[in-house]
Amino acid sequence: MVTVARCAAGLRRVSAVTSPRLRPALRELPSYSPGKSATQVNELAPYKMSSNENPYPPLPGVLEAIAAASSTSQRYPDARSSELVAVLADRLGVPAGHLAASTGSVAVLAHLMQITCDAGDEVVFAWRSFEAYPILARIAGAVPVQVPLRTDLHHDLDAMAAAVTDRTRIILVCTPNNPTGPVVRQPDLDAFLARVPPDVLVVVDEAYVEFVRDTAAVDGLATYRAHENVAVLRTFSKAYGLAGLRVGYAVSHEPVAAALRKVATPFGVSAVAQAAAVASLAAEPALLERVQAVVQERSRVVAGLRDQGYDIAQAEGNFVWLALGTRTQEFAEACAEVNLAVRPFGDEGVRVTIAEPAANTRLLSVTPKFAPEVVRQLP
Ligand SMILES: *Cc1c(COP(=O)(O)O)cnc(C)c1O
Repeated sequence: MVTVARCAAGLRRVSAVTSPRLRPALRELPSYSPGKSATQVNELAPYKMSSNENPYPPLPGVLEAIAAASSTSQRYPDARSSELVAVLADRLGVPAGHLAASTGSVAVLAHLMQITCDAGDEVVFAWRSFEAYPILARIAGAVPVQVPLRTDLHHDLDAMAAAVTDRTRIILVCTPNNPTGPVVRQPDLDAFLARVPPDVLVVVDEAYVEFVRDTAAVDGLATYRAHENVAVLRTFSKAYGLAGLRVGYAVSHEPVAAALRKVATPFGVSAVAQAAAVASLAAEPALLERVQAVVQERSRVVAGLRDQGYDIAQAEGNFVWLALGTRTQEFAEACAEVNLAVRPFGDEGVRVTIAEPAANTRLLSVTPKFAPEVVRQLP
């Protein structure tokens, strides 16, 4: 705290620069480019396959819960999301004190960096991975340390362990990895955790956990139970279909969870979002049915692409990764011509969300022109 008296004594001369001084870290900030909406350029129905959203509308009972909660919009919401936290604690079998919710898991992730990183501390994660990671690290004043994925597009946990220094405060493990699709397997994570200093927080980002079918995949909750330095990050944006309402949460041990609650934006999760999340949890049978339908569509798309000659990495989220290299942008344009919005990443590849069956089928009609054999024979 600086008192007014001391401030006055320290008044600086008026400098020639007239605009407010902003943090230099912002200059290095890659900007987050949200997935494009589908635009309709011809008679075909448009589909958005660019943001890993759920193609289904909110679950049964959710719209009613939203309507009821909206009737008290003149009031602040429950700051602690008590009902949601209680339902989650019961569902997950964790103490309520280990839960911290905020406006999407991206906000929780920002808070995790705020509670662990001082200026210049390091945040280790795989790359390519979720594009919010380097942005949030820079905003926190930390240094992003990006460890290349293995050639099979899985995390390279050996290299990540080797990248840990005495400045490392937090490590992000994204499983399944957005945008490439593979999961981290439990024995690999266990071996990794044995090499990570116990005072470094390891965050297991399970944004797509409901879609995972690999039985060897990481069990985030079991891992958190076994390790004081592990936090699990979950969201209602993907499988639960509430991306528009912004609710996510972390499960972590008491000191971390308590710190998260300290830094959280006050009243962040609206009453409408809390009610919708609670109602979605109550509609679990319908949720599981929808998730299974997406998983089946994913299998169909992956099989179709492999038949066309594509080498597709393990796809355990609600999306597939096409490593199209220099043809990435051209492919995204070809999709746009048939009213499909997909998500290109530079000259690396395209992430396509598994969407309505008609959208997935249309995707498979664009991909043959870009199949490896076809591309190899081009002049
Ligand atoms: C979509 C996503 C999130 C969740 O974002 P919300 O802020 O909860 O909508 C978190 N992590 C990853 C890897 C994601 O892809």
